[in-house]
Amino acid sequence: MKEFGLFIDGEWHAAKGGKTAPTINPATEEPWATVAVADREDVRKAVAAAKKAHDRGVWRNKSPQERGEILQKVAMAMFERQDEIAAAEVQDGGGTMRKAMSMDIPGAAQTFMHFGQFICGDEYKAMICEEFDEMVPVPSKNLVVREPIGVCAGITPWNFPLIMAAWKIAPALAAGNTVVIKPASVTPVTALMLGEICTKAGVPAGVVNVISGPGGTAGEELAMHPDIGKIAFTGSTEVGRRIMQLGAGTLKKVTLELGGKSPNIILDDANLDTAALGALFATFLHQGQICESGTRVLVHEKIHDQLIEKMIAGIQRIQIGDTMDPTTGMGPLVSAAQRETVEKYVGIGKEQGAKCVVGGKRPAAMNKGYYFEPTIFDDVDNKMRIAQEEIFGPVVSVIRYKDEDEAVRIANDSVYGLGGAVWSANKDRAVAVAKRIETGTVWINDYHMINLRFPFGGYKQSGVGRELGKWGLAEYHELKHIHVGEDTPPEGKFYLQLLLN
Ligand code: NAD
Repeated sequence: MKEFGLFIDGEWHAAKGGKTAPTINPATEEPWATVAVADREDVRKAVAAAKKAHDRGVWRNKSPQERGEILQKVAMAMFERQDEIAAAEVQDGGGTMRKAMSMDIPGAAQTFMHFGQFICGDEYKAMICEEFDEMVPVPSKNLVVREPIGVCAGITPWNFPLIMAAWKIAPALAAGNTVVIKPASVTPVTALMLGEICTKAGVPAGVVNVISGPGGTAGEELAMHPDIGKIAFTGSTEVGRRIMQLGAGTLKKVTLELGGKSPNIILDDANLDTAALGALFATFLHQGQICESGTRVLVHEKIHDQLIEKMIAGIQRIQIGDTMDPTTGMGPLVSAAQRETVEKYVGIGKEQGAKCVVGGKRPAAMNKGYYFEPTIFDDVDNKMRIAQEEIFGPVVSVIRYKDEDEAVRIANDSVYGLGGAVWSANKDRAVAVAKRIETGTVWINDYHMINLRFPFGGYKQSGVGRELGKWGLAEYHELKHIHVGEDTPPEGKFYLQLLLN
């Protein structure tokens, strides 16, 4: 069995109290690694290491070019160790090897590559120091500079442990900050590995610290710690609310990437073959455990029957099974508890009158692992709980609409506002609909196509702030205005008369 400690100040440490916990492979239900469990004292040690590294300037005093080159080396180091990292990601979280190799590793490595390259370029140079000549209220040159915040905490969920850690570490480091990362306790391993990879690739000790521990203690300690300037949190809306409350004590900057119930709108002129398979991809990729999953399919009543037929036919092409087998498309849910949640919602859907047309149960062929069949509910009313609440599993609700206005009304009738899509042969028409949807991302004729250059985040209760792109990077800076006045005798300073006779 593999063993992992806490990664603090460039080295592996046991937890102060000596506590460890097993991490379970969701496909086998067996432990595959043990991980040190941080308590509050370990968190304080990690924050102290990050603060010391920041105060000494070992990272922020490097030029953007130097930092950018090291971030690009981190990306290359991830590719070099991709087999080992992918195996860990699959065993920790239950995703498929197919997804790990084509999404998790490249997605995380490219995040470092993207931010590394961006800060070496002219756009970043212009972004971190803008100059303005002004005559009012006095002649002056004005510099608007962006500086690192200091120690940033990243608290991440279990669904994309590696990518989420990369989304927190890479922009924070690009901006010159130091970090303490707390991955979810059920899937801590790849974030811990990433801490070591960063250090080996040239990030100075103390700049990246990764600790695994329970949200209620280790997470709360981070959210309250006075030496942390910013918290970047990804997880549930409920915990996001708590983080905001805890952070308020010391008025931390907070970005929150939270839950979703995203609308996937199929217009009546869509290519139905693509839209039907797209709807399956939107909901069942990674067993539906994706925040922006298109869990509400809104379909024009005219094409409803055809769409459902094509979706059901498409499901036959999804192979559920051994996560290590490259032909497997769907693995297990992350934990027994998560599968119970999904089962509870399937029961609620049936009780409230939705029609389960496929799935709704554990696959008969799998007697080990937290597997669940891809499930389609038809005849769903948007008021039903399965259409309003985040299930975070392979369950999609199909809802009919009569016209575009009704589709938009249903799409926006949600406390969430994270993602969504519009499928149509007419791109202008689709863009017009997209502009009326209250979510942070809308894809047209695609789904889940996250681009690191563009902002990602939520409207309403799906989040605060944005990640990725120059907009996400801006969230890791403090903004400073430096006013450079004229060096004149006192008579040149008219405002002195406001005080002096
Ligand atoms: P979660 O909110 O339970 O936990 C997320 C993280 O917060 C974990 O590291 C956990 O240990 C920590 N935590 C829990 N309680 C805490 C507390 N009181 N104080 C501080 N930290 C605490 O979420 P999860 O179950 O791990 O992940 C699933 C959720 O994440 C879903 O709601 C999903 O939509 C959301 N998510 C959102 C995005 C996005 O970008 N918007 C991406 C992925 C997942």
